[in-house]
Amino acid sequence: MMQQARTILQETFGYNTFRPLQGEVIRNVLNKKDTLVIMPTGGGKSLCYQIPALIFDGLTIVVSPLISLMKDQVEQLEEFGVSALFLNSSLTPEMYRQNVNRLKRGDAKLLYLAPETLMMESTRRLLTEMKVDCFTIDEAHCISEWGHDFRPEYRQLARVRKDFPGAVCLALTATATPRVRDDIQQILEMKNSNAFVASFDRKNLLLKVADKEKPLEQILDFLYTRPKQSGIIYCFSRRQVDELYSDLKHEGHSVLPYHAGLSEMQRTRNQDAFIRDNVQIIVATIAFGMGINKPDVRFVIHHDMPQNIESYYQQIGRSGRDGLQADCLLLYSYSDKQKIQYFINQKEGTEKKVAEKHLDALIHYMEHDGCRRTPLMEYFGEEYKKENCGMCDNCLRHKDALQDLTVQAQKYMSCIARTNEMYGAYHIADVLKGSKAKKILENGHEKLSTYGIGKEWSKNQWIQLSRLLIRKGLLKKDPQYGSLLLTDDAVAVLKGDEIVQGVLDRTQTNTGDDARRKTSSDVEKKYDEHLFEELRKKRKELADAQEIPPYTIFPDTTLMEMSYFYPQSEDKLIGIYGVGSAKMKKYGDEFLEVIRNYCSEKNIEERSRDLNRKLKKSTSSQKHDRVGREYNSGKSIDHLAEQFGVKKVTILSNLKKFVDDGNTIDPAGILASSGLSERKKDEVFESMQKVGPELLKPVYEDLNKTVDYNELRILQLAYMAENGS
Ligand code: ADP
Ligand code: ZN
Repeated sequence: MMQQARTILQETFGYNTFRPLQGEVIRNVLNKKDTLVIMPTGGGKSLCYQIPALIFDGLTIVVSPLISLMKDQVEQLEEFGVSALFLNSSLTPEMYRQNVNRLKRGDAKLLYLAPETLMMESTRRLLTEMKVDCFTIDEAHCISEWGHDFRPEYRQLARVRKDFPGAVCLALTATATPRVRDDIQQILEMKNSNAFVASFDRKNLLLKVADKEKPLEQILDFLYTRPKQSGIIYCFSRRQVDELYSDLKHEGHSVLPYHAGLSEMQRTRNQDAFIRDNVQIIVATIAFGMGINKPDVRFVIHHDMPQNIESYYQQIGRSGRDGLQADCLLLYSYSDKQKIQYFINQKEGTEKKVAEKHLDALIHYMEHDGCRRTPLMEYFGEEYKKENCGMCDNCLRHKDALQDLTVQAQKYMSCIARTNEMYGAYHIADVLKGSKAKKILENGHEKLSTYGIGKEWSKNQWIQLSRLLIRKGLLKKDPQYGSLLLTDDAVAVLKGDEIVQGVLDRTQTNTGDDARRKTSSDVEKKYDEHLFEELRKKRKELADAQEIPPYTIFPDTTLMEMSYFYPQSEDKLIGIYGVGSAKMKKYGDEFLEVIRNYCSEKNIEERSRDLNRKLKKSTSSQKHDRVGREYNSGKSIDHLAEQFGVKKVTILSNLKKFVDDGNTIDPAGILASSGLSERKKDEVFESMQKVGPELLKPVYEDLNKTVDYNELRILQLAYMAENGS
């Protein structure tokens, strides 16, 4: 059945390989084991039920709270040639009846439902008459009161699913907190062993935090180097949204606003314009995003500080779902922090404590000097082991950007001391600059020994220094008056015992933009941008004619591969990412024509794929080679599973390949990860000797099904390690 799953992946969806855990999940579902999947946004949750749905005889029900997404999902599936339907309150009675009739005729493999619709007596009667093979619960965190999005209707799903005893239950969510996870498993009565948790590291997101100084200028700088890209800019308030929207519009950007103050019609219209690429940028409050499935959002900017890490991660997670690079820029200012603090102070008791903890974690992330992925992954309970991720501002910043700022720090801090820690950053800068402002003269600060000793820097640089000193914990701001206070650590610097190093100007929004291209794939780096634009035009034209979003025809990734490989025949086109048989039939000719014309005009030939294939192979073999070598260097299987962010079985299968390649490994470490008694182990080995170790089924039968496959897999590997493969 897994072979069939792979074929569907390639032929229907046009993808080459499974994303992490997809294969394992699909296998589990096909074996009718209830399964929980936790994957970050963009991880590829949909295929986990869509592929089994195409293999099962019966129907797959997908319960989702996001009515706005159902239509989108069904449209996307139809483009892949998969028959799917949805039932929810957005349908007219006429269309509702039509869909019910199609369902009765067996005219759909997947049915998307809102929980309320499923609870309706008529729906339940309809469905209990049908053969249902899979009961999928999307956004499964809604079942838990501990989640951020609890829906009482979801609670009843545990009961409703019992209406379908023959169906396997698959629950999916992007919410990672253990509490919610446990809740889902408990309510749906699922076994721990059937939970699949993917790594939450989204490698293609470039993470940046910049000091907010002149936000409009900073955002304009950022947008300048990203023409034609889709993106979302989040603001704290509706007022801010309106303001930034009109500023950007004034600057000639293609932009629309979105917040709860707009009429529902206006919101829908703006969202649609974004989804259909009629507008590039949406300036929005957090109200925007839940119903967005657009895979090619290329950037997310936080004009203001987000509420907490969880919502920040959810918001930036809306970019780069297609796996291509996306840039996430957060503008950080001290006054934003105070704004949030103000809201927190309105709360009481535990709620207040929780909010404070969340704020601390966020501040820690924003002020972090090292790799940003370290505090981020830590927050989600995952250890980040790499020292340099190559995809965050801190990792990409040039090493020589680090300056020695000790002398200026001493000047600045002694000026604070001389003025009795009663003034804010601007005043201190004025004193150092030797300003004749009224406030200086009134206080007699022109007579201080620190007056005018800081002319070597602009006022702005002194302000930046004050931020850096706060970040380093040498200064803090008086929460009530905003005056700067020296901390205990400041003394050592003032005495000359400690130095201060850092990057003064952290307002740049394009840090690492050149360096980042090094990490992207060859296709991403070298595709033909002119052809890409022509293909985009064609895609838009086809999409508009059918009133569907362009990405349902092909995602950017597909157009990018087309503009790299220049395929000119159907044979070649089918090898391109995202080109399955249905899309080939429907759109192949139109896109081929664009490519052929372009190529003949410019005298360009097809680029061979073989090279690329080989490259792919060698990187995948590198993976099991690496696992093998790391294992031989003494790491345990558990350790490796954690290090590579995969399940133990995956490490075992990597090791098996490594042994199959003729390498040797030490069986002891493998045996150590088996939970069987010595006696039982020997029994298994004897059986392997008798019926052969290559196939597990005969061994399983021979042992009267007393040892499960996971254990057999471990012992098979140990056996092979001992006896050679
Ligand atoms: P999620 O629901 O977890 O946010 P989706 O299921 O929407 O993620 O998948 C995100 C994107 O990745 C989609 O555009 C999807 O087509 C693509 N995708 C999913 N699985 C694969 C795969 N194995 N290979 C290539 N692309 C994939
Ligand atoms: Zn990093």
